[in-house]
Amino acid sequence: MARQVRTWLGERHLLLTTDFDGTLSNLAPTPDEAELSGEVQTALRTLAAHPRVTLAIVSGRRIEDVRARTGDIASFVGGLHGLEIVGPAGGFLHPALGRVAPVVADIYRNATRALAWCRDAVLEDKTYALTLHVRRVPDEEAAQALGQFVALAQPALDADLLRVLPGAQVLELLPAVDWHKGKAVDWIRSAVDVGPTAGVGVVYLGDDRTDEDAFATLGGRGVSIGVGDRPHDHLIQFRLEGPASVGRFLDRLCADLPEHPHHAT
Ligand SMILES: [Mg+2]
Repeated sequence: MARQVRTWLGERHLLLTTDFDGTLSNLAPTPDEAELSGEVQTALRTLAAHPRVTLAIVSGRRIEDVRARTGDIASFVGGLHGLEIVGPAGGFLHPALGRVAPVVADIYRNATRALAWCRDAVLEDKTYALTLHVRRVPDEEAAQALGQFVALAQPALDADLLRVLPGAQVLELLPAVDWHKGKAVDWIRSAVDVGPTAGVGVVYLGDDRTDEDAFATLGGRGVSIGVGDRPHDHLIQFRLEGPASVGRFLDRLCADLPEHPHHAT
């Protein structure tokens, strides 16, 4: 598989874009517990140091949260599913974020009070988004907590300020804007500076519904690699089992990639 990707890449520069949770790190009971294994960390670091590779991480977490878990490994980090991006020469901040901040703060205050009964639910305030994690909550209680959460957000949903993004034992309220990981990857792609001659080949790795936006946007222009069993077959070219196999794939990809394209065999 690494060889196939290398062959597809040819002489171009590689923009390796990847999700974080469930792709680089195993899914943890609470978002705070997710971390990179030593193997994945080493594989990422080696790949990022390769002269023909640019590494980008695009996550639902905030940028500073991703940075706290990955250090400065990646040249580009996208937070809030790409609504915010930092890169070596500037960044991107979706213009709608300012408008939703007070609404999110309001819902956060109310939800903290309303969901106090559900002790194992974790409410994550991302300033411009709000996530309720119910991974450790029994099913019945989880359904009730999620229902309450959505009810509190209903006015903002009706006003088209926020939208609901359901996930695996998690529900997120996000700004209701036409922006997603696919558009973020396009933004990053156009910000990668490799000089006038070399083209850029994009590889995207992800495990979740939000990553499918990136797979769909890339289409035949890149290589889409699904992680785990959630991504739909028709959107991806390859599938890896989980973060450990992602680490091994990145290792092989890096070992297979000559530092100078004209030495490619
Ligand atoms: Mg994920």
